Amino acid sequence: MDEELRNELLLLRDFGFTHLELTVGRSSLVEEESTNLDQQTTNNDDLLADLEKLALVCEKCRLSKTRTQVVYGVGNPKADLMFIGEAPGRDEDIQGKPFVGRAGQLLTDIIKAMKLTRDDVYIANVIKCRPPENRNPEPDELEACRPWIRRQIELIQPKVIVTLGRFPLQSLTGKGYSITSVRGQWLEYDGIKLMPTYHPAYLLRNPAAKKDVWSDMKKVMAELGMGV
Ligand code: URA
Repeated sequence: MDEELRNELLLLRDFGFTHLELTVGRSSLVEEESTNLDQQTTNNDDLLADLEKLALVCEKCRLSKTRTQVVYGVGNPKADLMFIGEAPGRDEDIQGKPFVGRAGQLLTDIIKAMKLTRDDVYIANVIKCRPPENRNPEPDELEACRPWIRRQIELIQPKVIVTLGRFPLQSLTGKGYSITSVRGQWLEYDGIKLMPTYHPAYLLRNPAAKKDVWSDMKKVMAELGMGV
């Protein structure tokens, strides 16, 4: 069986899917005739888009009951740089896109200061549905949602991941790091360099910490061979 198709089916099994509707089409996960599989030009962009279709109907945890919509991720599917935040807030829940509220504007400013645009990078969260009243995500919600971000990272294969705040740091590394103890230090996720930094919402409350984030972004830019 085609390796990519096999991986996709294993992922679906991890998400608890027991049945698949077979449809014919460029973006369908399974082609009608297995003989077509070898010629299938499924690339990572298509797989990322297929993954999004599945994520949009996810009901793996209680957050699916209170969300307006799933906030999957936006940006360049071939990005060298991925920003990973915590969870959608009110604006994101309404618009279906990550980091579009006040904290998002600050993240956009940081990206611009790096001489990049939001379309150059990929932006996602470790939790895809808004927790009610923006409460902290529960451990079982982080656990249930983790396969989505893992697969997004696997498909995008960024050179650098920047985690924003405590929850993405802890969820991806599986360690109980406090943000202040590791901020600005290179860590690793699955062979990919990971830079933990403060969440933009924290910067809105503590503008003095912006200089620390900028110092972290300069390390990221140097790692990516960008002029600093
Ligand atoms: N905070 C996050 O962590 N993610 C968003 O998408 C918005 C705010």
